[in-house]
Amino acid sequence: DYQFSKRVNAVTPSPTLMVSRKAKEMQAQGIDVINLGMGEPDFPTPPHIDAAAIQAIQANKTSFYTAVSGIPALKEAIADRMNLRYGSKVGADNVTVTTGAKLSLYVLMQVLLDPEDWVVTARPQWVSYVEQVKLAGGHFHSILPDNLSLKLTLADLEALDHPVKVLILNSPTNPTGQVYTRQELAGILNWANQIGTYVILDEIYGQLVYNGATFTSGLELQELNDSRMIIVDGVSKAYSMTGWRIGWTLADPRIIGAMNKILGHMTSNPSAVSQYAALAALTDSQDCVEEMRQTFEQRLNATYAQLEEMSFFNLPAKPQGAFYLFPQINPQCMVELGFDSTSELVQAILTQSHVALPSGEGFGMPGYLRISYAKDQATLDQALSRLKNFFNSK
Ligand code: PLP
Repeated sequence: DYQFSKRVNAVTPSPTLMVSRKAKEMQAQGIDVINLGMGEPDFPTPPHIDAAAIQAIQANKTSFYTAVSGIPALKEAIADRMNLRYGSKVGADNVTVTTGAKLSLYVLMQVLLDPEDWVVTARPQWVSYVEQVKLAGGHFHSILPDNLSLKLTLADLEALDHPVKVLILNSPTNPTGQVYTRQELAGILNWANQIGTYVILDEIYGQLVYNGATFTSGLELQELNDSRMIIVDGVSKAYSMTGWRIGWTLADPRIIGAMNKILGHMTSNPSAVSQYAALAALTDSQDCVEEMRQTFEQRLNATYAQLEEMSFFNLPAKPQGAFYLFPQINPQCMVELGFDSTSELVQAILTQSHVALPSGEGFGMPGYLRISYAKDQATLDQALSRLKNFFNSK
């Protein structure tokens, strides 16, 4: 019998990765499973990005470690791209490049939290925040906002009865697709500044907003130096580069330095090849981002319209960004179906109708499902038709 640490025993495996793994196992057995579980765009990485990586390999930019925080050219390219997008004054010393935005977030928890410190975010929340906070020994509190858009308000924050070391705000939000307005974000930053709370803005979906919605980055509102505002972003979602694993943190150089201390013992550096790919993504034409964004927008509109017709789903406010829908299963319907939990329901949908969907439980919202529309429309239509058959046959 292997004895593992209390730390690892306390971790819940990523439910989005788990459902996806089951789907892949079924696919390997020849079953035609539609996997709407993962947060990965279905587009191939744009060819000019691949070409830059191949060139880096051929030019032997890979036989040595890079700086822990990333190659200088990439840090400068990140700062320049952010400054162009948001009119900010980010410098290379405000940047550390990590193995995906996920690692940025993980290391930030290690840097900022002492045991018993509180981290607050809005519910539903991305599945990894809570586990990363646990691994750093902190307390996690996700607030269920009292509004249809499920966005945190100042009133929610002011009503808290415990101190807050770190506030995480994810806009556009995974899984609800909501986008905080400039005014909402400014109000929340102001609240945090007054009490000295760190704010981590997870802006990984910032380039993916639809139907005229405007994304506001924290960089438009506040400078990084001498501030406790921290931005996390990356190339995974906007450039269809999830497998390359490149993300970054933008913050005051002291925060960046503390992260680098940990990263130096953890990864030594993010993959050199991937860094050159990300460099091309950020410095070459941005047309590919806009093309993918438009396709996501069409899919959102087509898929949302179909979901609205389905009586077994209740829909929160229409998403404005990211690439997920987060319907509630009609509670009456849930009772009639006789499932005890949403995980059981999701399991039944996978085994009987061959559609893989993460249940809302991992996001702090039992009774909900997440549907990723990072798949072509024909596949999405087929998945919805399978869902209709599943619910209608019960
Ligand atoms: N933050 C959110 C809200 C996400 O949905 C994801 C990916 O699913 C990430 C961060 C991590 O992205 P990556 O590690 O691929 O850069």
